[in-house]
Amino acid sequence: MCTNLPEKWDIETDVVVVGYGGAGAVAAITASDNGAAVTILEKMPSGGGNTRVCGGGILNPTDMQFAGYMETICAGTTEPVIIRTYVEKAMKNGDWIRSAGGDVQPQMALQVSYPGASPKASFPKLPNSQFMVKYNVKGPADEPNAERLWKLLSGNVARRPINIVTGAPAEELITGQNGEVIGVTARRDGQKLAFKARKGVILTCGGFEYDEATKNDFLPCRPFYAFGNPGNTGDGIRMAQKAGAGVWHMPATSGQLGLKVPDFQAAFIIRFFTERFIFVDRDARRFLNETGLEVHEIAARVSVFDTDRFIYPHIPVYAIFDEPGRRKAPINPGNSGFNRTLYKWSKDNSAEIDKGWIVKGKNIAELAHKISFDEGILEETVLQYNESCRTGKDAEFGRSRETLAPIDTPPYYAVVLWPSLINTQGGPRRDVRARVLDAMGRPIPRLYSAGELGSVWGFMYQGSGNIAECIVFGQIAGQNAAAQKPWG
Ligand SMILES: Cc1cc2nc3c(=O)[nH]c(=O)nc-3n(C[C@H](O)[C@H](O)[C@H](O)COP(=O)(O)OP(=O)(O)OC[C@H]3O[C@@H](n4cnc5c(N)ncnc54)[C@H](O)[C@@H]3O)c2cc1C
Repeated sequence: MCTNLPEKWDIETDVVVVGYGGAGAVAAITASDNGAAVTILEKMPSGGGNTRVCGGGILNPTDMQFAGYMETICAGTTEPVIIRTYVEKAMKNGDWIRSAGGDVQPQMALQVSYPGASPKASFPKLPNSQFMVKYNVKGPADEPNAERLWKLLSGNVARRPINIVTGAPAEELITGQNGEVIGVTARRDGQKLAFKARKGVILTCGGFEYDEATKNDFLPCRPFYAFGNPGNTGDGIRMAQKAGAGVWHMPATSGQLGLKVPDFQAAFIIRFFTERFIFVDRDARRFLNETGLEVHEIAARVSVFDTDRFIYPHIPVYAIFDEPGRRKAPINPGNSGFNRTLYKWSKDNSAEIDKGWIVKGKNIAELAHKISFDEGILEETVLQYNESCRTGKDAEFGRSRETLAPIDTPPYYAVVLWPSLINTQGGPRRDVRARVLDAMGRPIPRLYSAGELGSVWGFMYQGSGNIAECIVFGQIAGQNAAAQKPWG
């Protein structure tokens, strides 16, 4: 039974790819190379999505034993067969990039005291964690990793007969006999257009980082801001659900701490390239080892709800630092996040002090007063921390000796930080062939997905695992959609 067949098709093609980020690009390239006519629909004025503003790290397992590590961190949320397929194909990610005309180089560690992107496994103590490396796309050192990645992907798309329609948010999947997906509607310049997909539709429209309702339903804290592309509002989840899809991995995310200011939709990534800082909570007290955190799990660490006081005591987090810390380097690295092309952070953070984004006090008491803290408690916290630096031992939180540097040179500074998303992993459930499954676990005919929309990472996240997934499942989805017999 046809449910929402349009009166006429505005554009006819074999495969429609919804969302032009990394997964969409790889899916479109693969489907095109497998003989399909391809149209990409992109909601924003141009493609790129989170892919273009990410850190550009690409996970490359070095041995199938890495599947054991992945099974541990997925904790039963993803079938072993999917994990094995991911690992098997991701081991060849470097080859795929070379076949696309690029090359890879090892990802370097950031020289940052607040834990940065480690080139190693996120959970190095787990068995089989040694069987991986992280790459990025080789290119000029002054070009952000993600820009090099996006140039490679979009360059490959441009060299193929792929139709790209931007400024065209997809709205609804069109279903035919037996619920098979035969097309999709999108809105462009206020007009509703129907795209016929003779072979299939591939959903690659990213996460729900900017959808407040879905975040409130599934994520552990609020507010939960985001660093990436504001076009990612979970549209693919609703479209797939309407066509009968089941969902998985909805609470899984990776998040850090960011500065959110009203003029910018995305949060600014904040990192310290100095040891002269601490994090304090709403009580002006330290609450964790600031330099021992796994970078992708920081938001989860602060999202603890106190049912006695009925508050999140660690949200927001206040970073406290001193004058040498302020002068050392910009606290926004400027090479990733949606704001990277919109704002240039000052080298010594002075412009951001002038804007009031960073609060300044001539002494700790004045700083405390300006951020509405009990000055006695903040003074005590800083004194106690400085004493740990003097003795070389942080008895309370175990911060490592080499990262214990005092906060003792005025003026002093505070910046207010909020949990901010790098990614969300939830979305329509997919199988090993990238087919979207219905609520009963059966494939919805002709509907595929790839990338962050319903990704394989259902519990903990391995850094660089998303871009790797775009390449892996982009290929699988593109190949399988192109192999379908046209329905009309
Ligand atoms: C700051 C930051 C750093 C990161 N660093 C890394 C890293 O180093 N390594 C790594 O693996 N991952 C990293 N990630 C995560 C990674 O960027 C994403 O998971 C990945 O890029 C997702 O790719 P995608 O193609 O699935 O989605 P995206 O690249 O986000 O593309 C989705 C596209 O779909 C479009 N879209 C949305 N709705 C619609 C609609 N209705 N119709 C049409 N189009 C639509 C969006 O506008 C967007 O262009 C990082 C993320 C951020 C924000």
